[in-house]
Amino acid sequence: MVAEARQYEQLSYEEPAPKVARIVMNRPGRRNAQGITMTYELDDALRRACYDDNINVIILAAAGDHWSAGHDISGEGPQNPSPDQTVGLWGGRYQGKGWEGFYAREKEIYLEISERWRSSPKPTIAEIQGSVISGGMMLAWMCDLIVCSEDARFRDATAAEMGIAGVEFWQHPYEMSVRKAKEWLMTGHWISAQEAERRGMINHVVPREQLAARTLELAKTIAAKNPFTMKLVKQAMNFAQDQMGRKASADYGFHLHQIGHMQAMLVHGIPVDVESMPPAMRANIEKLIASRNLPSKS
Ligand code: ZN
Repeated sequence: MVAEARQYEQLSYEEPAPKVARIVMNRPGRRNAQGITMTYELDDALRRACYDDNINVIILAAAGDHWSAGHDISGEGPQNPSPDQTVGLWGGRYQGKGWEGFYAREKEIYLEISERWRSSPKPTIAEIQGSVISGGMMLAWMCDLIVCSEDARFRDATAAEMGIAGVEFWQHPYEMSVRKAKEWLMTGHWISAQEAERRGMINHVVPREQLAARTLELAKTIAAKNPFTMKLVKQAMNFAQDQMGRKASADYGFHLHQIGHMQAMLVHGIPVDVESMPPAMRANIEKLIASRNLPSKS
């Protein structure tokens, strides 16, 4: 079955070789910041690739110099998914009182959709260049394999700058050693592609000009294998990782993430710790919150 082709606003969908789909985040002017539009276009594109029997492997790439700036906090575009877009069954009470709306939103657009993408049965390969920040880590980590260019670098700034114990899709100790993960979150420092490879978080580091070709080569190698077997390999590995506590820890991490948001809300009147933030980011966040008319302390 071939899924019906559709045009995307913030993605492109390519088939660079037989049996290989390449989904490209295409918002280079915004460093591929991920808002609601991109999130649900990604879901649509993944679904399309998974339901297309002619596709065996899926590459997730990004246009421009940087792979992902993380979640779009500009306030532009839709802020919540429409009922026909949602993938979870929690319900869309995004305007609910107290913490209900915030919780419902983050559960749908960050936790459940990331888990759904990680569980997509076909092998996925992230093709990463430049910077990957905070929410962008969730997109990288949902992929089975990661190929990076030498200039790739990674950072989760949520703990160091936002008062939150890590991004919503909380996978840190399963992506590197616990000790390294603690340091990475506590300092908010970058890790380079080379260090990420040493930590076991990524598969290969290649020269920038070879990134697309080397990723495609890996995709083609896997796409030539028995696709059912590849699905079983993925399922077995993901199950094993879940038996090591990944799923339960991710769920716990998501809820501590919510406590971080709530603590900031109680102390600062907005769901992030503005006092830890760099001044430019603080100004942007305060502008965004003002535009949403959330309750404020001041
Ligand atoms: Zn959050």
